[in-house]
Order: sequence, then C-alpha cells, then structure tokens
Amino acid sequence: MTHKPALVLNTDGLPLKIISWKRAICLDIIGNELPEEGITVVKYYDDYVTSAGGLKIQIPAVGMTNRYININKRIPLTKHNIMIRDKKICQYCGDTLTDHIASIDHVIPKKVYKNKHECHRWDNVVIACKSCNTKKGGRTPAQAGMPLLSKPYEPTAYNFWAFKKLPEWEEFLRYN
Ligand SMILES: [Zn+2]
Repeated sequence: MTHKPALVLNTDGLPLKIISWKRAICLDIIGNELPEEGITVVKYYDDYVTSAGGLKIQIPAVGMTNRYININKRIPLTKHNIMIRDKKICQYCGDTLTDHIASIDHVIPKKVYKNKHECHRWDNVVIACKSCNTKKGGRTPAQAGMPLLSKPYEPTAYNFWAFKKLPEWEEFLRYN
C-alpha cells in the first residue's frame, strides 16, 4: 500500500523531517512505550490500515517528537536539493525545468576560484536550464547581462522541508 508520508515536528513546533506512513505508525506505537524514542501524533489522515492482527490503525499525518532534537545538520548540496530550493525554476529565464533539462550553474564561475571547492557552495549555485547555462558560459551574471531571479542561499532544515508541504500539514507550518 502506498500513502502520503507524515510530517514530524520538533518539540518547538518547527518541522523536522518527513517520514513514511509506516515509520509514522511505528513511532506512534513506540511512543506509547518509550516516549523519548517515539512521536506523539497530533493529526491523523482520514485513512486507516488494517494490521496483521486485524486491528484498524489510523494513519498519522503529523507527529511531534517527545524530546527536543537538535538539528544543526546541513542540507546536502545535491542537484536534487538545489532543485527543491529553486522550485525547479531556471534562475535566469524563469522556465520550469525537469530533472533531465536542469543543470547546476556556478554563479561566480569556477575559473575565478583558486580552490574549486570554494565555488561549489549553496550561495554560489543555482538551477539553470542548459541553454541559459551555455549562454552564460564562464561569466558572472553581470558580465553575461543575465541577472538572477533570486539570490542563492543555504537552506536550513526548517525552510527546506516547508517546500514540500501537503495540505494536511499546512496548519502546522504557520511559522514558515
Ligand atoms: Zn533558462
């Protein structure tokens, strides 16, 4: 069975992560025995699943951890994650892109940096269509006369997950 995932909130009410519905049911059950390890469900979907023992179990939509989870974890800098941050929009021409035609553009081009690793960072990468990327070439946006639609930034776990919100979660995502 496939079903929409569940949103997990930290004890401060801020979104922490998204987990599968199966994991959510497990954590809900674990939370009854070992509160620190599980979640407290604050909202369920209207849907039920029947357990092997014939028990009807309601599927969690939103749960809250029972202890504060310290999240200093950084969002990995991958093309997939940049696509989420940039909402799949080419940051030069505004076209909506599929994974296939999207590419990573280094805003300040690689050749400017002595250390290539310094160039590949959240505040220097954007999603671009291949034609914009080719047109811009090894130039800065100013040199190429191609202004950015938005300034790249490093997403935090909080604003990152909020991009994927489901309607059932909206009331819990008011902080974003
Ligand atoms: Zn483009």
